[in-house]
Amino acid sequence: MVSTEQVPVTVLTGFLGAGKTTLLNRILTEQHGHRYAVIVNEFGEEGIDNDLVVDADEEVFEMNNGCICCTVRGDLIRILSGLMKRADKLDAIIVETTGLADPAPVAQTFFVDDDVASRTKLDAIVTVADAVHLDAQLGEHHEAEEQIAFADVVLLNKTDLVDAARLDAVETRIRKINPYSKIIRTTHCEAELNSVLGLDAFNLDRVMEFEPDFLESDHAHEHDDDITSISFVSETPLDIEKFQKWFGKLLQTRGQDILRSKGILNFSNTNDRYVFQGVHMLMDASTMGAWPEGQPRNSRVVFIGRNLDSMGLKEGFESCKAA
Ligand SMILES: [Zn+2]
Ligand SMILES: [Zn+2]
Repeated sequence: MVSTEQVPVTVLTGFLGAGKTTLLNRILTEQHGHRYAVIVNEFGEEGIDNDLVVDADEEVFEMNNGCICCTVRGDLIRILSGLMKRADKLDAIIVETTGLADPAPVAQTFFVDDDVASRTKLDAIVTVADAVHLDAQLGEHHEAEEQIAFADVVLLNKTDLVDAARLDAVETRIRKINPYSKIIRTTHCEAELNSVLGLDAFNLDRVMEFEPDFLESDHAHEHDDDITSISFVSETPLDIEKFQKWFGKLLQTRGQDILRSKGILNFSNTNDRYVFQGVHMLMDASTMGAWPEGQPRNSRVVFIGRNLDSMGLKEGFESCKAA
């Protein structure tokens, strides 16, 4: 094994809606002069994140056939092996996990698969944390806790949305779970590139201390079965007022159970693409420029959460179509 030939890999994780795609876009648009390959895994069959990732020179590989930490490790190994055939043209690989992924089995891939282990090197696990919601997420989802526990760097994001006392409390909670990670406070994931990439920070000894069976067989874990995903597509343009009314009320009344919502929307009164991103009751919407030539102008929305079947989502979405 010649260590100089190992391509560094950054695993980018963080719970639903924390800002992983924002960070990824920041990395890809910066004038860094490096060549990265990006592997994106998404929860939900309707791939939206890939459209939200900026058009960059980098190659983006989608893994949408399941969860990266459970069923699609074979896919991950296959993509990595393919990339290794032209490793000399690559400076680094970035793997973005779903918000519900446990980083342990993903990190394990870089040690237990011989081929992958000899050609790549886990540089760091970077976890984006939502300053508003992390506290509640830690209490409810073991994945959120694992993401913090495994982090070499925590980007404590959305700091502009909480007050100083609350921010300190969240940071204290992170420290309790993981005293070793570097914590960087950000808004909109505005972090220096060299504070998240090329760190040589992943430390197997530290991981073995809190997870002694890390390298043994398959890390057993289960996802919260009551969390599901549902998505809709509409070829008919939507009415912006109807949508705002329906969606606003939906988040207000059912936001507790809607962990994540996002979509790309085609409204009847504009030529711009609209993007919205929600986490529980908080919602962010913006335009994303004109629709790309030759691409279908359809609206796609995804919801991730509990009890989604009881919310009348399909009927609600259908009712937003422009007459
Ligand atoms: Zn999984
Ligand atoms: Zn686990």
